[in-house]
Amino acid sequence: MHKITSKTILIRHGCTKSCSYCTFDKQYIQDESIENILTLVGNDCDIVQLSGINMNEYEKLFELIDTITKTNVRVINIDHIIPSTKHSYQLLNTVLQNSKMSKYINLPLQSGCNETLKRMNVGHTIEEAITYIRPEFDYTINVIVGFPGETDEEFEETFEFLKKLKQINNNIIYAVKEYIPYKKSKSYHLPNQINNEIKRQRYLRIKTSELGRMPEPRYDYVFPACLQTSISFDPWYPNVGPKKWGDK
Ligand code: SF4
Repeated sequence: MHKITSKTILIRHGCTKSCSYCTFDKQYIQDESIENILTLVGNDCDIVQLSGINMNEYEKLFELIDTITKTNVRVINIDHIIPSTKHSYQLLNTVLQNSKMSKYINLPLQSGCNETLKRMNVGHTIEEAITYIRPEFDYTINVIVGFPGETDEEFEETFEFLKKLKQINNNIIYAVKEYIPYKKSKSYHLPNQINNEIKRQRYLRIKTSELGRMPEPRYDYVFPACLQTSISFDPWYPNVGPKKWGDK
């Protein structure tokens, strides 16, 4: 039986954004060359995960995807799409059209309230974020609750927005986290920090509601053991190749 091989390849180093809750030291931006990436992929890799913080800004992204598509690789997965960054819509369309690309998107939304998003300094609005929700994909959407200054009203806005996204596409998993005030982050110094009990209540409100329910996957998903170690944060993985992985 053929043993499935998967590789996670960091195609871009550094980050061009300045989210206020971030502690990542991102002094330099560097893209790996396509030649280096192909060498890392090799000749016998089944699944390639293209990774990197806002990897959709990788300069030659579409040339890279085209090139990998022509190899023996069976599934190409992308780490995430950050709304309103360079190439993000084009990447969404490429994922849709390219039969080797898994129809799974991780979208770091973070909040469903524009005022909260402004304080987070993530650079997108909810109006922009909603345009990334397409019926053809399955999603994991990241949400942070209890960000400094998040009032009850702001949290309710987020809750309602998450409901709205689910109405557009039910195949969404919300990856909810309670905000953690890291000392090195800008948001550590923001006023109106939220106490832990309220953060927990907001977290539980989402997780114990309809929003916390795991949807039925629509694709023929597989969980090869190799993925559980290298890409363990992906709960879903569509099999866009042969139904049985041993059939190669
Ligand atoms: S949290 Fe924001 S600033 Fe930090 S690495 Fe991610 S995208 Fe970049």
